[in-house]
Amino acid sequence: MRICMIGTGYVGLVSGACFADFGHDVTCVDKDAGKVEALLAGRMPIWEPGLEALVTHNSSRGRLKFTTDLLEGIKDAEAVFIAVGTPARRGDGHADLTYVYAAAKEIAGALTKPAVVVTKSTVPVGTGDEIARILKENGAPEGTSVASNPEFLREGAAIRDFKIPDRIVVGAEDEHAREVLREVYRPLFLNKAPILFTGRRTAELIKYAANAFLATKISFINEIADLCEAVGADVQEVSRGIGLDGRIGPKFLHAGPGYGGSCFPKDTLALLQTAELVDVPMQIVSAVVSVNDARKLAMADRVAEELGGEVAGKRIGVLGLTFKPNTDDMRDAPSLSLIKRLLEMGAEVVAFDPVGREQAEPLLPGITFAEDAYRVADGADALVLVTEWDEFRGLDLKRLAGAMRGRHLVDLRNVYEEEEAARAGLTYRGIGRGEAS
Ligand code: NAD
Repeated sequence: MRICMIGTGYVGLVSGACFADFGHDVTCVDKDAGKVEALLAGRMPIWEPGLEALVTHNSSRGRLKFTTDLLEGIKDAEAVFIAVGTPARRGDGHADLTYVYAAAKEIAGALTKPAVVVTKSTVPVGTGDEIARILKENGAPEGTSVASNPEFLREGAAIRDFKIPDRIVVGAEDEHAREVLREVYRPLFLNKAPILFTGRRTAELIKYAANAFLATKISFINEIADLCEAVGADVQEVSRGIGLDGRIGPKFLHAGPGYGGSCFPKDTLALLQTAELVDVPMQIVSAVVSVNDARKLAMADRVAEELGGEVAGKRIGVLGLTFKPNTDDMRDAPSLSLIKRLLEMGAEVVAFDPVGREQAEPLLPGITFAEDAYRVADGADALVLVTEWDEFRGLDLKRLAGAMRGRHLVDLRNVYEEEEAARAGLTYRGIGRGEAS
């Protein structure tokens, strides 16, 4: 099957490389000449475990190509995937569909024979209809159809998620589109991945409903964590206690500094906008968003409280900057609001992240970047563990304490136990671990 992938970001590049690995003939097109140049030279524009090997392998077999030239990339394609960004529009939180519609217009002009145009980008309900209209208006060949195929991969585990998905969702309005997508994904459902065929609008909504539900679990457990602190209970045990119930499930029940990343914040806002447009109240999602916004801001106060209410002139060491481990993605990372607030309060911030520095530096002027966790500790009054990278799980706490000026460890991911921190001479504060009185 001949596939054209528009956009080589986290989703486009992983999807393109995985499709090629299934044996399809894939060309990835990106407007960003720097990205394409890097990929042609074998360098990955993003950090994702296993990606470089997958791209190199499939490129060398001639199944995976990269270009900035849409005409070249789209030639003879049976399926054209749109995997461009859909960030939140400034001001109102609507999904910004500029890139999606621009891509649709370009596709219309470049197709020389009918193809199935598939949105992999997360797009609000009804976007497929508008893409169909744009394609028609701009002269796409008769017989070109539009399908929705939302992507559920997680950064940091993207290849595994793509190859062993919980489900594949295909929203299509015609049998030909369903047939082409069945063929594209055939290698996966040979492995028994359930493929769910729905209408296009339903598929578009499934993606938002899934992300809003996961965000709800996070905000829920974060509120329970606050309650645990107030009443002397332990949120990790509460999570385990409820997560073992099959109806609830153990995932996404880790209390922390609030959700971030390139999807949950923008997708929850976009869902609220969709609901508002059709005048349907969504009080739960609305509460999830405000709980999360408040939580991100509250993390700086938590650090200040540990330091006696004042961080001005104090040196705060931050461990981890990316929104979660195993990615270099800094979009909407909780570290951003935490650090900005600490700087506003007059603190000096030193940070280390195993891979996120390049993306973090332009977003965090005014902080110092250290080379490893122990250098972060040098002269610090408090250490704040923000992202639970594996390499922060086995730190030598005695060595950290020895390098610090103060003794406070604020662990926003509950990686350590109070007793082990105390043994190293550190005062520990986790999340949702109340003290029984
Ligand atoms: P990204 O910003 O990393 O990548 C988008 C790419 O598209 C960029 O390289 C950009 O240069 C390119 N692009 C934009 N317009 C183009 C055009 N007209 N022609 C060619 N290239 C163009 O974005 P991402 O994180 O990969 O997300 C893409 C979509 O997938 C979004 O809608 C997102 O919500 C959704 N999604 C993301 C994830 C994730 O974990 N990142 C997971 C599931 C779904």
